Amino acid sequence: MRFVSFNGNRIGLVDGDGVIDITDLAAVDPSQWPPVGMVQFIARFGDLLPEVEARRLQGVTLPLSQLRLEAPVRWPNKIIAFPANYHEHISEMRENVISQANAKGQGFFLKANSSISGPADPVVLPPVEGREIHHECELGIVIGQRARGLSRNKARGVIFGFTCLLDMVIRGREERVMRKSYDTFCPIGPWIVTPDDVPDMNDLTMRLWVNGEQRQSASTRDLIVDIPEMIAMSSAVCTLEPGDIIATGTPAGVGPVRPGDTLSIEISHIGRMDLRVEAGAVGAHPVWNALKIATLS
Ligand code: MN
Repeated sequence: MRFVSFNGNRIGLVDGDGVIDITDLAAVDPSQWPPVGMVQFIARFGDLLPEVEARRLQGVTLPLSQLRLEAPVRWPNKIIAFPANYHEHISEMRENVISQANAKGQGFFLKANSSISGPADPVVLPPVEGREIHHECELGIVIGQRARGLSRNKARGVIFGFTCLLDMVIRGREERVMRKSYDTFCPIGPWIVTPDDVPDMNDLTMRLWVNGEQRQSASTRDLIVDIPEMIAMSSAVCTLEPGDIIATGTPAGVGPVRPGDTLSIEISHIGRMDLRVEAGAVGAHPVWNALKIATLS
């Protein structure tokens, strides 16, 4: 199943080229703040599944192409993110072994929840002169159940679904959370695909293009810390909550984006988003003046 947020926090089940509006099942007013309808829907999904199936059979759909799709989760409890987490396609085995050891031992970081944006929103670049702002193409995992201290073999059971995710970042040496937390630095979407529609989460192909030119391409089979381990590691530290997002790390090929660019991300069995990049007026701060060099962190 594929679930979308659309037209002001409404919740939809995607059915072919149509969307079935199931907002009322979540029993949340979509106009309320904070926008937690999808989080509540995910938390109650087990109980709501028969009603969701019944709605599908009724088949009352809205045309997908005429809806404004939004970030499928707007107000998660947290976004957990893993650093560079892919085997590179290089022959320098020694270097590769070292980088694998680093990725396995690095743990994770957090990104501000407010950095989330959706498939119809622009990526807005802050005016940080002399700095590069990079795209990172990633698979996003949406957690379905509250969980703590999960073992690897229990990890799959708490996945609600998958989504495309871009982990945008200002390169530099300041705290990673600050460099990755600007508004619109975490586009997700276009929807959440549940695991029953994903043949093998450990063999998903992801690609990223800038203005139609491919920059990143990888498979989740090349993850260094794999999906069960990411969930086990996260839940060792934090209670995972329904709607939490895990950004699973990016493969090689990251690079700068500029106003006017179009960023496209596609993940097999999940979906595709085309995002325009704009220059923003807000976001300059002297903290960015200190260091004008870009480092890959
Ligand atoms: Mn990343």
